Amino acid sequence: MDLLEKCRAYMRADEARDAGLYPYYPAFQGPADGGQAILEGAEVCMLGSNNYRALSINPQVIGAAQDALALYGTSATGSRLLSGNLDLHDDLEADLADFFGYEAALVFATGYMTNLGVVSALAGRGDLVYLDEKAHASLIDGAQLAAASGAVVRRFAHNDPGDLARQLAAAPTQSVLVATDGVFSMEGNLAPVAELVAVCEEYGATLLVDDAHGVGVFGLGRGVIEQAGMRGRVPLMTLTFSKSLASQGGAVLADARTIDFLRHTSRPQIFSAGLSPADTAAAHAALREIRRRADAEPVALAAAEHLRRALDALGYDVTWSAGPVIPVRFPDQTTMLSAQRLLLDHGVYTNAVLPPACEGYQLRIACTDAHTPDVLEAAIGVFASLREDLLPRYRQAA
Ligand code: PMP
Repeated sequence: MDLLEKCRAYMRADEARDAGLYPYYPAFQGPADGGQAILEGAEVCMLGSNNYRALSINPQVIGAAQDALALYGTSATGSRLLSGNLDLHDDLEADLADFFGYEAALVFATGYMTNLGVVSALAGRGDLVYLDEKAHASLIDGAQLAAASGAVVRRFAHNDPGDLARQLAAAPTQSVLVATDGVFSMEGNLAPVAELVAVCEEYGATLLVDDAHGVGVFGLGRGVIEQAGMRGRVPLMTLTFSKSLASQGGAVLADARTIDFLRHTSRPQIFSAGLSPADTAAAHAALREIRRRADAEPVALAAAEHLRRALDALGYDVTWSAGPVIPVRFPDQTTMLSAQRLLLDHGVYTNAVLPPACEGYQLRIACTDAHTPDVLEAAIGVFASLREDLLPRYRQAA
């Protein structure tokens, strides 16, 4: 059979398009600053962005990227191992290590590549990898690469250190990597970092926390490890620049020997060009800004708490979460896609999320520092006015 036959037979997106409910690849015009965005020529309230600290439009961050463009040009044009390493990368790594309390850091081209590159370089034949069953795709894919070179990969029940402990107690004595998200991207809930540290320390396992969504938001910007009081107790931390750090790229933080090993062995690091000068400088400027604001609670947290309560009071099926992410559940795909469309028609953009990215069907709403009370009240007004259209549907289906 022709290899590409599966592409011609793929109907899932067409079905949504035919129903006028296709929500993906929206073409925003201009910056999605976290508060407002322009879509199809109209201003929409942006409730789908990970720009938690609204730093992608911050003048210092933009200025740093512009200066780097002017000084270094548009691209690193090579692997960092050879010609593509810039002093900008080294400077950012030094500041990341200092801010997050690790000996060293290594910057990758994306957060996805960071997890892929760390897990696949550290685990192989003779090693065991345990993943939280809701771990991000990049950790799963990294573990699959590790499995291809002989590692055994297992899952532990979501946010259940007891299940992890039971499995570790029964496991053969081997070197073990345990990996989890710090903040789960779709549900917005936090990993029980202190309990996971205790289990890993008891069984001599190495813990990796991917704090893509926690950095900049929790623990005075240092993320969930700091918030849990576990600074110095989590050997491996990864993060992305594509959320609070308002750029592209990612980084791993660890002891100096581990970082040196990864610099020379991690294939996504070695066989891909270094992060671009503008992206590197933007992430660095955003880090400085987060550090500068470290004594103030992010507006995004208070905004999300307000919105969560308002939606719950209106009767929406809001899942509890502690941070800027608010999952709103719907009983089936059509109801969820219709809700997404209706909200958009009334000027509110939300993310439509389906399995396997999450359990069930949900609109993933996220708040940022740009969500001022006025912006939020307007969005809440839309949810209130659409209640009659949206809620009876989920009552019927329940
Ligand atoms: N980890 C988690 C938990 C994420 O949610 C994401 C992005 N959604 C990533 C890693 C990958 O980050 P990036 O966008 O930098 O590739």
